[in-house]
Amino acid sequence: MLGPVILAASRSDRMRRLVSAAPVTKQVVDRFIPGETVDEILPVIEELAGNGLELTMDVVGEDITTPEQATAARDAYLELIGRLGPLELGARAEMSVKLSMFGQALPGGHELALANVRPVVEAAAAIGTTVTLDAEDHTTLDSMFAIHDELRGDFPQTGCVIQAYLFRTQEDARRLAANGSRVRLVKGAYKEPAEVAHQHKHEIDKAYVRILRTLMEGEGYPMIGSHDPRLISITQELARTAGRKPDEYEFQMLYGIRGEEHLRLAAEGHRMRVYTAYGTDWYGYFMRRLAEKPANLRFFLRSMVSKG
Ligand SMILES: Cc1cc2nc3c(=O)[nH]c(=O)nc-3n(C[C@H](O)[C@H](O)[C@H](O)COP(=O)(O)OP(=O)(O)OC[C@H]3O[C@@H](n4cnc5c(N)ncnc54)[C@H](O)[C@@H]3O)c2cc1C
Repeated sequence: MLGPVILAASRSDRMRRLVSAAPVTKQVVDRFIPGETVDEILPVIEELAGNGLELTMDVVGEDITTPEQATAARDAYLELIGRLGPLELGARAEMSVKLSMFGQALPGGHELALANVRPVVEAAAAIGTTVTLDAEDHTTLDSMFAIHDELRGDFPQTGCVIQAYLFRTQEDARRLAANGSRVRLVKGAYKEPAEVAHQHKHEIDKAYVRILRTLMEGEGYPMIGSHDPRLISITQELARTAGRKPDEYEFQMLYGIRGEEHLRLAAEGHRMRVYTAYGTDWYGYFMRRLAEKPANLRFFLRSMVSKG
């Protein structure tokens, strides 16, 4: 029951101010967002890569309100890519972007987001890597998929994310699997109404497996974005059945969640990519991590009380 309440709070400015100003927040946030600047995040990237892990980098921020903020978001990614180049990680460190941060919700937002994301995709390609478009709430997805199609015209490796909780996703998966896309499948992290999305965990898990099968049997490159042990082993089974080799799909997990499992899967010879978020505008990302696991919220509240 707590999850939806926290997700509603993730959209509240009053809560944003309260949570951001709380004295203990930073130390809890660090578990999920291990840096605020490029200088702070580069050693983290080098350490993860040194441990045999791959990365997808997220400069946190979303729901911006001015075109200038969208330009700043683009520039933040360009700065990161510029600093990643000399590390020569190539496709081992890719980017994840939220189109809302590139201006998608502003007037003329579809064109604005496309104009801002394209230079990021070009810069990523120039250092041998790629970009994946994150999935946000369901109202943004038609625009996201259209931008994905457009970018794939020049950069076929551009990826996108689909969310198992949405009823539409099976159909999206069929289309993306048929056109050879790189696709990350996740359960879904936003508060969605019952008209468009499954509301119960067991229904979402069942949908995840059905969609996963479609991706595994298709022509694309499946990226399994989940920490769920059951789904990890079902993935391995489905990959075997579909005759996919370990480099023909990959696992992805979030920084700060089940770190031992990241290392175990990499040691077993799987491609394991860690979604690593950094930056100062961490509120929305952090609140979704609290909503996914109420124990995180209890820990957060306990630390506030004990410090208080
Ligand atoms: C790489 C990656 C990228 C993602 N990108 C998107 C996106 O673009 N759009 C989107 O809507 N969602 C995205 N998500 C979030 C996703 O939708 C889920 O909300 C999240 O992954 C939790 O679901 P789960 O599959 O891990 O399963 P769950 O059943 O939620 O979790 C399984 C187990 O994982 C652990 N776990 C899961 N979450 C947490 C947490 N926050 N804190 C501590 N332990 C936890 C727990 O042990 C839990 O029992 C992404 C997730 C990943 C891994």
